[in-house]
This record gives sequence, structure tokens and C-alpha cells, in this order.
Amino acid sequence: MNRKSCTAIGIDLGTTYSCVGVWQNDQVEIISNDQGNRTMPSCVAFTNGGRLIGEGAKNQIAMNTTNTIYDAKRLIGRRFNDTKLQEDMKLWPFDVIKGSNNIPMIVVTYNGEKKEFSAEEISSMVLIKLKEAAEKFLGKTVRDAVITVPAYFDDSQRQATKDAGHVAGLNVLQIINEPTSAAIAYGLDMKNDIVRDINVLIFDLGGGTFDVSLVTIDKKGTITVKAVAGDTHLGGQDFDNAMVDYFVEELKRKHSIDVSVNKKALSRLRGACERAKRVLSSIIDTTIDIESLQDGVDFSMRISRAKFEKLNEDFFSKCIEMVEKCLSDAEMNKRNIDEVVLVGGSTRIPKVQQLLKDLFQGKELSKKIHADEAVAYGATVLAAKLTGCTGKKVDNLVLIDVVPLSLGVAIHDGSLSVIVKRNSSIPAKKEINYCTVYDNQDSITFNVYQGERSRAIDNNWLGKFEVAVPCAPKGKSKVRVVFDIDANGILNCSGVELTTGLKRGIIITNYKERLSTRNIEKMLDDAHKYKLQDEEYKKTTSVRSALEDYIYDVKSKIKKIGKTTKTFNKKDLEIMETAIEKASEILKESPLADFDEYQKALNQLEKVCLPIIAQHV
Ligand code: ADP
Ligand code: MG
Repeated sequence: MNRKSCTAIGIDLGTTYSCVGVWQNDQVEIISNDQGNRTMPSCVAFTNGGRLIGEGAKNQIAMNTTNTIYDAKRLIGRRFNDTKLQEDMKLWPFDVIKGSNNIPMIVVTYNGEKKEFSAEEISSMVLIKLKEAAEKFLGKTVRDAVITVPAYFDDSQRQATKDAGHVAGLNVLQIINEPTSAAIAYGLDMKNDIVRDINVLIFDLGGGTFDVSLVTIDKKGTITVKAVAGDTHLGGQDFDNAMVDYFVEELKRKHSIDVSVNKKALSRLRGACERAKRVLSSIIDTTIDIESLQDGVDFSMRISRAKFEKLNEDFFSKCIEMVEKCLSDAEMNKRNIDEVVLVGGSTRIPKVQQLLKDLFQGKELSKKIHADEAVAYGATVLAAKLTGCTGKKVDNLVLIDVVPLSLGVAIHDGSLSVIVKRNSSIPAKKEINYCTVYDNQDSITFNVYQGERSRAIDNNWLGKFEVAVPCAPKGKSKVRVVFDIDANGILNCSGVELTTGLKRGIIITNYKERLSTRNIEKMLDDAHKYKLQDEEYKKTTSVRSALEDYIYDVKSKIKKIGKTTKTFNKKDLEIMETAIEKASEILKESPLADFDEYQKALNQLEKVCLPIIAQHV
């Protein structure tokens, strides 16, 4: 085994929680972070002094609502005017504005200054934290990573996730679909029991997204995805919000208070609802208590599991509809499904399990793989394979995935001409020739869309490119459009002018209006700058607490020694008390003083107190 190359990591970059794994001794190790947890909230907070990522950020959310960013995954790769994004913005306590190229930018106050960040940058901060946890575990620098995305992510969301990896200083080996990754984990776990091809339905319901994938696993370990379906905006957060909306109305009715405009109160209520939702997965009713939620009103209300299920019944039925769609896309009868595998935190909801079980006529659902870790697990196995690690578990791994949504170009009547159909296996390369539609047309413009609607503009616009053609009567000049989808599910397209037969034409590869290379380079620089700032902040806060500790220490010694026969003389006591007072001044400063100033204060205090105390012990 090539040890050096086995530092590749697998990352599940979730909407609400993220998880990272490394390959060691022929198996996957899911890494605990500095808080001892195996998953980490995908949350970044900006404060007056430093940046917090993960638990630290999530824990202070109610106190710092406008500068604590979560849901970057709901923003990534989307345009500012996207209707779903506009809806989400109404719920987010942080500000999002329109940046260049219609990219949404998150606005925060960081170290007293207003700063704008793209979703790629916020996600890169989460990735850096995971990368660092892996590096600490391995004791080595990590560069290579496989990052997972929802199967239903479109081309721009995939590209943007890859960019986030790049900004985090990672070499993204591959972007892989979350349910496919879970299928790898399942396949490995089951390997010895698979004696024929088995059809497995992976049902992945997380915090932000829902994916369903139908895969076939053969006895050699080849995983072939047959179809995917899902919704990039359906998950646990929607269930939390439904509960929040319900309580907001109840509060209006019962207490005549409106918390919907109070960001802090809403954030506290949302946190409490999320916890109550989890409780309702194991017991059938619970009470939410929040002291002094607004206008001095203490919040205390009951909610039953039945009520929770009622509030979310449309979401739950949507999940079941998606499973049916996936089955029909794969042209498979539900009786032919051998295993239904649950992945994602929200599959712990009993109603979801029951609906799914009913759909499969009472079939037991498989909970063999870890709902929160399976995605990172599979990604880690693939990362090991792609970096040349060998071993029983990785050698036979072969993946054949599909493109989740059709890709095509708009044609003159406004309809979408599909070049690559949804659920086609990837990598895929397809081409179609298009002719001019006017006499003497000198170029053809291609607008590229992804989606299933027949009118082009109803789909997701990915970008455009133009190919020059020689002037001729309509229908005479031709362009060949080639769509090439790589293993990441990312599209590269090109247009070749064919009329002259020279096949030289213009080849366009970079037609997308996402972040330009220049922007990414700047983000990389910024990431480095923020890292240095964070280190400085850590250093400063640690010397500040050393000073605090020392003051505390001296004070308690004065007290303790004061009670003994060796007590200090009056003059020494005064000298020490004056020195403590002086050193304490700097602790009151806000924002933080510099590292050197704390260090100086600490040194001076020690210089005064050490010799005096030494005489008395
Ligand atoms: P993602 O991958 O989208 O970040 P996860 O798969 O980590 O999501 O799942 C997180 C979601 O699962 C959150 O919305 C969380 O509230 C929900 N969740 C976790 N445990 C439970 C539970 N016991 N009952 C209901 N929902 C749960
Ligand atoms: Mg997930």
C-alpha cells in the first residue's frame, strides 16, 4: 500500500451537518472533531475578534443571529433571483445581497467591518475545519478529497462545490452523489452476503435535501445507479420551520405577540423546535419551554407527534412520490427492490419510516449503515481508491452513476432541445447538429439549460456560448454541439462549426457565469488571511486567559496565605494589589487588545508577584 497517497479524505458536506473520514489500515475511520463529535454543524460565525466554525458557531447563534451563517449549501451554485433562494432569504436572519454575475453574497460584520462572502467561501471554511481535523488525526497534511453532493444537485451547484473545495486548499478528486456514496458503504458492509445482483433503494432524507437513488450492486462490488430523484429543498429544516410557523400563529392567538419579526426570538424558537422534533421521534408528545421569549412572555407549549406529522404531511407525501418517480424512471417494480436503505438524520422520523414501509408492502427497512456517517464513509472509500490505495475493500469498487437532470440547449421556437437525457450514465458524451434558421445568419447562440420542462426558460439556465458560421441561406450552416459530462456530473460543452468542413470553429469550454478564476484566486488569498487572523486570535485569547488565570491565582494565594502565620507584610500586599489592579485594566478592553500587550501585562505582574509569593511558601 502506498502510505503517502492514503491521506486522501472523504467529506460529506451537509446542509446542516458535515462529516469527514480517512482511510487507515484498510478501513474507514470517521474522525471526531475537537469537541469529540463525529459530525459537525455546517455553521460559520463571525464575531468581534474571530471566526468560529462548527459547534462553536452553532452554540452562539441566538446571541449573534445576523453574523452566524448556516445553509450555505442552500445558496451554493444558485443565482440571486432564484425563487427558492428568495423564499429562503425571508427565513434567514443574516443578510444576502446580489453580487456580480447575479451571485448571492452573504453580508456579515466581522471584526467591526462589513464583509461579503459567497456561499463557496463559507462552505470552504467548513471544509477547512474538516480538513484540519483530518490532518490532526493523521499527523500529516491533507490535499486530496472526495466531496459529496446531493444526487439532485445541478451542474452549477456541483461546480460551485468543487470551487469551494479548491478555495479550502483541497484537490477535489471527485464530486460524488451522496446516495451513491451511501451505496458504497452499504455494498462494503454487505459484500460477503451478495450472491446475485441486488436492487437497493437508498432513501436519504437529511436537514436540507432529499435524494432517492435506485442502485444495483453485483457480487463483484460494481454499483450501478439506475435512476435518481429528489428535491434539493426538502428536509429536516422544512419540518422545523413548519413547527415554528405553527407556534408563531399560536403565540399570536394566545398571547397576542408576534415573534415573526424578532430574529433572536425566532432563532431560539427554531432551535427549540428542532430539539422537540428529535424528541418526537422517540416519544409521542413533548413540551417546549423558552424563558422570556418576547415581551417578557415565557413560552411553554405542548406538541404531539400526531400534530407534528399533520404539519408535515405534504412534505412526507412528497418523499413517497419521489420514490415512486425513481422506481418508474428505472422501470422497476417495487417488488423487485431487495433492500430499502435509510440514510440521513430525518429518516429517524417514525412517520417517514412507516410511509416507506407501507409503500413497500410491509418490507423491513435496512438500518445496517450509519444514518449520519454512511455518506462520508463511502466518499472515503472512493478517495482511497482514486489515490491508488489497494486492498480487499477498494480493489473491486466500480461506480456507474447517472446525470440527475436533462441537459440541452434552447432552440429558435423557445423549446428545450435535450442533448443528454436525465438518468443517462456518466461520464457521457453526446452531440447534436444545429442549423441556422435565418438567411445570412453569421453566428448561432446557444443557451444551455438543465431540467425537465419543455419550454427552455422554465429550466435552470447554466450559461451561453456563441459559434460563428459562414453567411449562407438558412439551414445551410451547421454547428455541432457536444456535451461532455465528466464523472463529477459536471458539464463541459463545445460547439464546432461544420459548414466549411474544417472542424476548427470555436471550442467553448468556459461558458459558465460562475466565479471567475480571478475571484477564486482572491478567495484563496482571503482564506489564507483569515486563517492567519484566526491563529492570531487564538494566540491572543490564550495569553489573555493566562493573564486572567494568573490574577486569579495571585488573589487566591493572597487570601490563602493571609490566613496563615506567614502572612504578607502590608507594603508587599499593597504592591501586589496595585499590580493586579493595573493588569486587570487591560482585561476590560473591548475589542481585544494585542497579544503583546497581554503578554507585557502578564510579565510585569509576574515580575512583581513571583518574588514576593516565593518568600511566603
Ligand atoms: P444533512 O446531510 O442535510 O446536513 P443530516 O443527514 O445530517 O442532514 O440530518 C440532519 C437533520 O436530521 C436535521 O434536520 C436534524 O434535525 C434531523 N434529525 C436528526 N436526528 C433526528 C431525529 N431523531 N428525529 C428527527 N430528525 C432528526
Ligand atoms: Mg446528508
